[in-house]
Amino acid sequence: MFEALQSELAGRTAKGLLRRRRLLESAQGAHIRVDGREVLSFCSNDYLGLANHPALIAAAKAAADDVGVGSGASHLITGHHRLHHELEDALASFVGLPRALLFSTGYMANLGIVTALVGRGDAVFADRLNHASLNDAVVLSRAELKRYPHGDMAQLEKLLAASKARRKLVLADAVFSMDGDIAPVRELLDLCEKHDAWLMLDDAHGFGVLGAGGRGVLEHFGLKSPRMIYMATLGKAAGVAGAFVAGEPSLIETLLQNARTYIYTTATPPLLAAALLASLKLIEAEAWRRVRIGELVAALRDGLRLQHWQLADSVTPIQPLVIGSNNEALMVSERLLERGILVPAIRPPTVPKDTARLRISLSAAHTLEDVARLVDAINEIERA
Ligand code: PMP
Repeated sequence: MFEALQSELAGRTAKGLLRRRRLLESAQGAHIRVDGREVLSFCSNDYLGLANHPALIAAAKAAADDVGVGSGASHLITGHHRLHHELEDALASFVGLPRALLFSTGYMANLGIVTALVGRGDAVFADRLNHASLNDAVVLSRAELKRYPHGDMAQLEKLLAASKARRKLVLADAVFSMDGDIAPVRELLDLCEKHDAWLMLDDAHGFGVLGAGGRGVLEHFGLKSPRMIYMATLGKAAGVAGAFVAGEPSLIETLLQNARTYIYTTATPPLLAAALLASLKLIEAEAWRRVRIGELVAALRDGLRLQHWQLADSVTPIQPLVIGSNNEALMVSERLLERGILVPAIRPPTVPKDTARLRISLSAAHTLEDVARLVDAINEIERA
């Protein structure tokens, strides 16, 4: 058995696909200490620079003093703290939907929501570039999975029209995590209306970032609909951890009753909810963080003089530099690291074959000088 594992691992290594963890020794930020050296980092999802913000730290500390560290039980036993409850209310009102439910992680939220809503005899229609957690959720639900090419509304319409499923659910990342582009939510919603389907959006990368007020993809498009299931994560722009789903009261109550990843797990420490309440206030009040991201995105896109590689079409802080081959992507990442800049290479199966890339992610914690350093380094490495 171990021989088989060793030979699988050797195969991975030979293909340049062996994953490796870096050891972080500082707080999150633009400048971090990893593997014993200081680097300029372009790889966190802390888009607003809140993960190490004094207001969040103070809120977490005060809550620890007040209510301790552990939550002690699941939400349905005695783990559902007043702080979790306040956060759910605050999140629902922030995104402008009737009710919200907290989950411990985005991965668990997606598994719980999808499996609670669809099963055998139902069908799920999913964008081919959706996050792994959404794909896993569908497999676990036992609903039929129909995938449409990325963003292809004509194909989606064909699949919906041909389906005889009892319940139909369309699933899409709102901002695609490895591409940075925004889903065509208006068109998705129109198709769902026309074919009587639910629309579930995973706004992990839009919440806090999109919309003037940071309310996410629904604010970005000025859209709302009772057939929409809105999910977002709290470990990225919100700077902490966790996730939530928001929508109609009967939907949320159904999830509370049925979502197994909600029911059969210990509630997250209430101090995280306290930190998130502080984070929500900053997301709302400090619009300059989103303005800064816009300036950084423009500086990156204007500054790169690419000849072979391509910057994906994206207005979000996710700015993928598509290189193609796994080994070349690794090489570029290493050349950047030699210059003290950390941008990891993302390879299959996380992204489709032959589209290995550097996933540059920008944050309000970066300065224009940081981006200029990155731009100069990439321009130089491509020409070398
Ligand atoms: N959905 C998307 C689109 C994501 O990018 C991620 C995280 N990479 C998740 C869900 C999972 O969220 P979490 O990290 O909170 O489990």
